[in-house]
Amino acid sequence: MHSVTAATIAGGGGENAGAYLRSLASGELVGTLAFSERGTGAHFYAPELQAARHNGGVRISGRKSFVTSGGHAGIYLVLVQSATGEGLDCYAIQGDAEGIRFDGAWEGLGMAGNSSVALELSDVEVADAARIGEAGAGAGLVFSVVAPFFLVGLAAVNVGIAAAALKSAIDHAANRRYGDGSSLAEVQMIQHLIADMDIAVRSARLLVREAAALGDAGDEGALVPIMEAKVCATQTAAAVTQQALEVCGGQGYTPALPIERHLRDARAGAVMAPTNGVLRSWIGKALAGLPVP
Ligand SMILES: Cc1cc2nc3c(=O)[nH]c(=O)nc-3n(C[C@H](O)[C@H](O)[C@H](O)COP(=O)(O)OP(=O)(O)OC[C@H]3O[C@@H](n4cnc5c(N)ncnc54)[C@H](O)[C@@H]3O)c2cc1C
Repeated sequence: MHSVTAATIAGGGGENAGAYLRSLASGELVGTLAFSERGTGAHFYAPELQAARHNGGVRISGRKSFVTSGGHAGIYLVLVQSATGEGLDCYAIQGDAEGIRFDGAWEGLGMAGNSSVALELSDVEVADAARIGEAGAGAGLVFSVVAPFFLVGLAAVNVGIAAAALKSAIDHAANRRYGDGSSLAEVQMIQHLIADMDIAVRSARLLVREAAALGDAGDEGALVPIMEAKVCATQTAAAVTQQALEVCGGQGYTPALPIERHLRDARAGAVMAPTNGVLRSWIGKALAGLPVP
């Protein structure tokens, strides 16, 4: 989220963009996205919250959900309907701004360090200088910067989770000895599982690298490969962590090995927006020549 925040500010620009980027790059402030709302769920790009003109700037009230690093981050990119009713605006709001409150504690299945909590905004006053990008241009920013950077980043994280589970499974299979001195790795079913996992991880990694390279090059056809890379990498992480559990057996089900943590962490990617359900629709639409979203 921190990297996507920086990419969004760099891509959109704005009066305060340089100062925000310096504090994000130095590590002085952590950045995050406050896009999701209970009322729109997976459709994070269609917020119900609306800014209202106030004191030469805007005033924002309402509730954002699932804000990663909520309460820990210093800069929150808040997506709202613009005060004019024309398009969306994205504002960078400081974590210590008056009227900001964080609600709840993170109790997710995995991603224990994520701290996704609700962000409550009560008449938060925001200067126009805090807007990222041109007035009303928020949707363009979401689809041209936020989504591609987030999708490639999350895909890479999931390849990493799958690769870590594969490595742990191989180490365990090689080192686990039975009474007769043979190792778990000598069991053919285990060899097949390891082979399948390695093929899956390598394939997903190649897809993510290709998507990242196309995105970096500004290729017009990058969107479909980027969306496919996220779906593939998150599905791979879910499947490979399950296979790693099967390789490691009962020991993999306990905290003695990191497999159970990887397995829980790998469940988040599919439901993080753009969710895999939504992405599969968008990929199908794009390939059939229909407008996305
Ligand atoms: C660990 C974690 C961290 C997160 N961090 C952030 C963050 O930092 N900032 C932020 O803004 N949000 C964040 N989110 C929120 C996330 O991006 C989603 O917006 C949120 O998970 C949607 O949840 P929901 O239950 O409201 O989905 P719902 O809208 O209720 O959807 C439920 C299911 O139905 C599917 N679905 C719904 N509509 C469609 C459709 N039209 N086509 C196909 N499938 C559909 C969805 O894919 C999903 O699987 C985070 C979520 C998680 C789990």
